[in-house]
Amino acid sequence: MSNKDRARRGLMLILSSPSGAGKTTLSRLLLEEYKDMALSISTTTRQPRKGEVDGVHYRFVDEDAFRRMAKNGEFLEWAQVFGAYYGTPKQPVEDALSAGHDVHFDIDWQGAQQLKQSAANDLVKVFILPPSLEELEARLRRRNQDSEAVIADRMARARDEISHWGEYHYVLVNEDVERSMCDLRAILAAERRLRKRQPWLAEFVRNLIQPL
Ligand code: 5GP
Repeated sequence: MSNKDRARRGLMLILSSPSGAGKTTLSRLLLEEYKDMALSISTTTRQPRKGEVDGVHYRFVDEDAFRRMAKNGEFLEWAQVFGAYYGTPKQPVEDALSAGHDVHFDIDWQGAQQLKQSAANDLVKVFILPPSLEELEARLRRRNQDSEAVIADRMARARDEISHWGEYHYVLVNEDVERSMCDLRAILAAERRLRKRQPWLAEFVRNLIQPL
């Protein structure tokens, strides 16, 4: 990484989608590829799914602890989704951004809206659509982690989540993971080169054009 890259202002990359649209896979691939990108680990009151590890996928807490954290102002944003609470802890995000790292968020449209109020300039919001609702349901079933009732609820919510697509900067139809990764790489490359994210440029250009 060159000094110019280090001087870049970090961005907040939000990926939102209905459950089962492939967001978790894309998030994982992004983080594997972009080693300097930090993941915002949300706090939630929902039960861990099979294979989920506390502190890796989420911080799992009970409702009392969540309420206490919200009251203490420890969240950048929080929302109720599927009857459970989800929140983005403030401190790790601020630490990562101030160290010059991009931060990746897997949060829903409510979280994206709230972050817009506090951090509009740093946000890059990407919405991931499934190719069809049939495909979405098939993916939820293949995941085989949720009960029938939860799947039915997630399908009902999918339409609602999708209706917020217009609030995002970029929209991908995730037909093919590798194709979507290509799109995400292009989005990141362009967003990282926005003038406002390269504060070092002003001095660089001044030196470049100063008379001999
Ligand atoms: P899941 O239970 O499937 O892991 O997540 C359910 C939904 O909650 C997903 O749409 C996910 O993006 C969203 N979510 C996860 N963490 C947060 C968070 O910290 N804030 C908000 N607003 N939504 C979140």
